[in-house]
Amino acid sequence: MQFQTAVIAGDGIGPEIVREAKKVLDKVAAKYQHEFCYTDVLMGGASIDVHGVPLTDEAIEACKASDAVLMGSIGGNTSTSPWYQLPPEKRPEAGLLKLRKSLNLFANLRPAYLYDELKGACPLKDEIIGDGFDMMIMRELTGGLYFGERGTVEENGILTAHDSLTYNENEIRRIAKRGFDIAMKRRKKVTSVDKANVLDSSRLWRKVVEEVAKDYPEVQYEHMLVDNCAMQLVKDPGQFDVILTENMFGDILSDEASMVTGSIGMLSSASLNDTKFGLYEPSHGSAPDIAGQDIANPIATILSAAMMLRFSFDLDEAADDIERAVKSVLAKGYRTVDIMSEGKTQVGTTQMGDLIAAEI
Ligand code: NAD
Repeated sequence: MQFQTAVIAGDGIGPEIVREAKKVLDKVAAKYQHEFCYTDVLMGGASIDVHGVPLTDEAIEACKASDAVLMGSIGGNTSTSPWYQLPPEKRPEAGLLKLRKSLNLFANLRPAYLYDELKGACPLKDEIIGDGFDMMIMRELTGGLYFGERGTVEENGILTAHDSLTYNENEIRRIAKRGFDIAMKRRKKVTSVDKANVLDSSRLWRKVVEEVAKDYPEVQYEHMLVDNCAMQLVKDPGQFDVILTENMFGDILSDEASMVTGSIGMLSSASLNDTKFGLYEPSHGSAPDIAGQDIANPIATILSAAMMLRFSFDLDEAADDIERAVKSVLAKGYRTVDIMSEGKTQVGTTQMGDLIAAEI
């Protein structure tokens, strides 16, 4: 089959890590007889340098015309790059926010998986790690506190600020359905996280999740309060499969979950809308401090490409193949510098890509 992918290489290490992901995808295409067609799209600093803005309407249209978007990372050194002398709406990150909004990407997925080979990098004790963990944080991305009405007023000389947290039942239902669908492709367990003992928005969240759950009798589901979830993530991370939650809770919990895996260079992510379309990118930034040195870890981007195959193209077998290839290369002892440990073989960005592609 033929698939169209818009490719945003971006800034910093972006072009290096995307190049390696494409190398692996090309190997998958040859093995499974698919055709992956790429359209290069400028966003972030790379777009500012050419067009004076971080994202053009033409770039949005090119993404919309594709089946999925594969992205490296955007942005530069926020202290020294001239991009950060521009007004906020012209800076690199404004391009990404605009793209997410234009594509209605309301569901953010961030897997947190502990590789056996990288257990040493996990900050948790061995008895807590147990057999490891493999969870998916599913975060609502376009509603809630970050998009609610807000303001700051001064009354009688006292400054008062407010932010409002609003969800309607449709916004909750669409993310809940996504969460249960994804659980069906995994270990069939959903933990819905809220603060229903205090917040009305959470009580509505819980009610709608319960309604959606009825359509998925095979999925075991539970509700958990967000404060308890934050504790459980470091007490017994192995209990989780899919964690389903609203925007701000998901922002905080996904960072906590990624920290317990111990390695930012390994973590992929996907942002989906209500079709098969998605934007796939590593969880880390553009790492301008190591750009152009052939030392960046390309694995998070390669695993993001695997998510693209799984969620946008329904090529589960090929996605499994990429994930297996990554594990195999790690098992053979190859490491980029960020995950290097004693007795292992250090390789650069290009060689890591070559090794993973060779395992496909
Ligand atoms: P960062 O994630 O880019 O880097 C943090 C640290 O992790 C750095 O020391 C970096 O060298 C290291 N690192 C990150 N990815 C790595 C990889 N693949 N291999 C090896 N080491 C890696 O975060 P930052 O320094 O806070 O941000 C740098 C720029 O990235 C900023 O402009 C920021 O706005 C941008 N950013 C973009 C995105 C995005 O595009 N979605 C996300 C986060 C940050």
